Amino acid sequence: MNNHINPKYKARFKKRKSLSAKNLLEQLIKGNKVALSQAITLIESNQEKHQQIVDKLITSCLQHSGQSIRIGITGVPGVGKSTFIEVFGKHLIRNKKKVAVLAVDPTSSISRGSILGDKTRMPDLVKEKNAYIRPTASGSSLGGVARKTRESIILCEAAGYDVILVETVGVGQSETAVHSITDFFLLLKLAGAGDELQGIKRGIIEMADAILINKSDGENQKAAKKAQMEFKRALHLYPEKKSQWTPKVKCISALKNKGIPKVWDMIESYKKTTVQNKFFDQNRFKQQKFWLYDSLNQKLKQSFYENPKLKSKLKDYLTQIEKQEISSFKAADQLYQYYIDSIKEK
Ligand code: GDP
Repeated sequence: MNNHINPKYKARFKKRKSLSAKNLLEQLIKGNKVALSQAITLIESNQEKHQQIVDKLITSCLQHSGQSIRIGITGVPGVGKSTFIEVFGKHLIRNKKKVAVLAVDPTSSISRGSILGDKTRMPDLVKEKNAYIRPTASGSSLGGVARKTRESIILCEAAGYDVILVETVGVGQSETAVHSITDFFLLLKLAGAGDELQGIKRGIIEMADAILINKSDGENQKAAKKAQMEFKRALHLYPEKKSQWTPKVKCISALKNKGIPKVWDMIESYKKTTVQNKFFDQNRFKQQKFWLYDSLNQKLKQSFYENPKLKSKLKDYLTQIEKQEISSFKAADQLYQYYIDSIKEK
């Protein structure tokens, strides 16, 4: 079949596939979804030449980004995240918004397939012209995935998406990672699972700007109301947030499309409050600072541990430590000095 392709077309196709930051930016700004996907694929690639294009692209996208609200959404599997995102996303689109859905899924590198951000989980939303759904970025570490997702957010914003939903599942530290790249953090919960407050990591409640008790429909409504009361009471025990925002607890039904517009009203009100009291921008700057230090730490570590000379030195020192010939601290001092000297030699 391939042999029948006109060679001129082949050349043209190849040319089209050679991506440059300039071309991608032009297409991105126009809101071209194919270009957006191609750019995110480059972000996910570990190849040096792709990283170079990405660096340029992100830098030029920065001035076109930032005009959005970034919403983190978490909850255990089965709580109704994709059902919620589907109805919430459609509500936003009716309100003339452009919605991007990204995911941070630390389990995907293990299960070799994303359970989140999967297009088939949001069959209606994916058909919408003003929605963009991207399965989770793969990566070896949670920090790596979060960083790639953060870069993808910038590209989505440059492409005109003004509500960015970042979904994650309550595994490991993924909520903390998502919290560090979003403005508003939504926790989805179910009622009626025994003591409502048991089994929830304290830190997650602390991070939440709103708790949504989902599946508040049919016979579940009474239990949902009860859970709402309990969460409200529990939230009172936490100190006031720096944002001066009091976290809200709401009962919703994603399946029956109940309470969804109120969730958006609440998020708009959050944005208004925190833009006014300046927390919104301060928080974004704090996140940028965090990512600066985080990537510096990564680079410094890499430069140390991937230095071939140091690798063998480290081994030698470990043997000496094992034989009680040197203390760990002294060894660290000497290794560090060796590292500094090796940089100076360069
Ligand atoms: P996820 O794993 O968190 O993405 O959860 P899903 O959105 O896939 O939902 C899991 C199951 O719960 C599905 O069978 C949904 O139809 C159901 N579900 C989701 N939201 C609701 C709701 O508000 N009420 C009821 N009764 N069922 C729901």
